[in-house]
Amino acid sequence: MSPTREGSFRLFRLLGIDVHVHWSWFFVAIYSISNRVQRYESPVWGALEYLALFVIVLLHEFGHALACRQVGGQSDQIVLWPLGGVAYVNPPQRPGATLWSIAAGPLVNVLLLPILYAVYRFGGGEPDSDQHNFFRYLLVMDFIVLCFNLLPVYPLDGGQMLRSLLWYPLGKARSLMAATVVGFLGGVGLIGLAVWWRSIWTGVMAFYLLSICWKSFQQAKVLRKVEQLPRRPEFACPSCQTAPPVGNYWLCPQCQQAYDPFATASTCPHCSAVLDRVTCPDCGDARAQRAWDVTIRDA
Ligand SMILES: [Zn+2]
Ligand SMILES: [Zn+2]
Ligand SMILES: [Zn+2]
Repeated sequence: MSPTREGSFRLFRLLGIDVHVHWSWFFVAIYSISNRVQRYESPVWGALEYLALFVIVLLHEFGHALACRQVGGQSDQIVLWPLGGVAYVNPPQRPGATLWSIAAGPLVNVLLLPILYAVYRFGGGEPDSDQHNFFRYLLVMDFIVLCFNLLPVYPLDGGQMLRSLLWYPLGKARSLMAATVVGFLGGVGLIGLAVWWRSIWTGVMAFYLLSICWKSFQQAKVLRKVEQLPRRPEFACPSCQTAPPVGNYWLCPQCQQAYDPFATASTCPHCSAVLDRVTCPDCGDARAQRAWDVTIRDA
């Protein structure tokens, strides 16, 4: 259900990151600008408000993307859609790296708070003038974006930060399981709020979050099964240091049959093709099998 490259178009590229906007963003733009202009004497301020929200959300997403790169992960795309922004980040599968990639987004909003407060306080404009109201809006909007994202409802930033913190004591699978259970309760709470506030947007958001929570919970169960498989202690993934499972969990790229490259020195027993890189089932990194060998590496 997340926005993808389909249905969105590239707006610009900055620091190697493509910024896409989903088509539905424009309907929301027309709707919210027409709502906002009524609060101002000049309609230009309504449009400026919308642009400002766009920039605040974008800065937040850039925080995620750049932090993810800093810890050695990949991130090259940001998509803005009506439920906010999504930075496609793929940090290394370690709790610290994940935590920093997630926390950097809300941190941008925290850093913006004193700046926007100064602009509001000393930016000029008579009390209750359009200019003054606009600066107040910026400050309030940044605060709302910050608080909303910090809700511990997976996959919101707060929920993902909770997951990264639980990763230290609980491991990859059980931390995801715990965070999605908390997220599920939070999502149900949001539905309650949506009914109370009669807010369609909150309701749509709650159902969206719940659907991701549910999928991630299923994913956590699969991860847990993978974690519990018997392992080969003589090998370890060069990226995440996890030993590979014993069994036919790899597909031969030539004959498409399953085999265990660690039992056959990377040679497919069906067609004799040699796998030049072995993909880690735990972190997804593909490295030559030589690099997995603990005895060679530590020698
Ligand atoms: Zn975020
Ligand atoms: Zn084969
Ligand atoms: Zn790995």
